[in-house]
Amino acid sequence: SIEIENVTKRFGTFVALDDVSLSIPAGRLTALLGPSGGGKSTLLRIIAGLESADSGRVEIEGVDATHLTPQKRNVGFVFQHYAAFKHLSVARNVAFGLEIRKRPKEEIRARVQELLALVHLEQFADRLPAQLSGGQRQRMALARALAVEPTVLLLDEPFGALDAKVRKELRDWLRRLHDEVHVTTIFVTHDQEEALEVADEIVVINDGRIEQIGSPDELYDQPANDFVMRFLGPVT
Ligand code: ATP
Ligand code: MG
Repeated sequence: SIEIENVTKRFGTFVALDDVSLSIPAGRLTALLGPSGGGKSTLLRIIAGLESADSGRVEIEGVDATHLTPQKRNVGFVFQHYAAFKHLSVARNVAFGLEIRKRPKEEIRARVQELLALVHLEQFADRLPAQLSGGQRQRMALARALAVEPTVLLLDEPFGALDAKVRKELRDWLRRLHDEVHVTTIFVTHDQEEALEVADEIVVINDGRIEQIGSPDELYDQPANDFVMRFLGPVT
């Protein structure tokens, strides 16, 4: 589980996150939904340990992670504009996190094979990232994030740059993958439909504040305020 307690983050005098508290049970697929500039990426980066909060506390799996490095937090992440190692094969890209952790060669080989099968990229192991489609590259990024067996998976608009059809495919696939591996996952999106279709729970964030937390049905049927109603309402 992830516990975020009273997290505030400022950039200069600008308040990007304003006293945010949030509790995410283990094994859940949670969407962080909100408009551009609302603070989604900032919150995700603070959970990952890539950015530190000005005040507040982050707990991951019962451990106070507020001052831990990203590696010590055991989180996997895929960011908005995912950068692969261009000169390394798909397999080596996936193996990367295991290699820097100096795992035995045999173990790495087996694990990479298992991961490539999970994301349906077995036949692309020896290709370079540039020789993959956008959707295949995002799946490679997910395999790479899962390689180190994270307790938490953080995805910042992992399908953002892709066309609608591929987005939908990957969205369904993420749902199935999550049903298989059950890793606690937070995924950022500004796409209402994506959040409503994929997530177990949706956190609506706007202007650095949480507007509502609930299941897709709860948010859709009982929006807590005008903002949520407008943001989730039917697109006309
Ligand atoms: P998007 O959907 O566009 O990715 P977001 O919800 O992820 O938006 P954030 O990236 O978290 O938004 O940014 C929240 C606010 O904080 C924005 O107004 C942004 O301009 C500001 N901000 C983020 N990072 C910095 C920074 N390093 N320095 C100054 N301001 C920043
Ligand atoms: Mg963002």
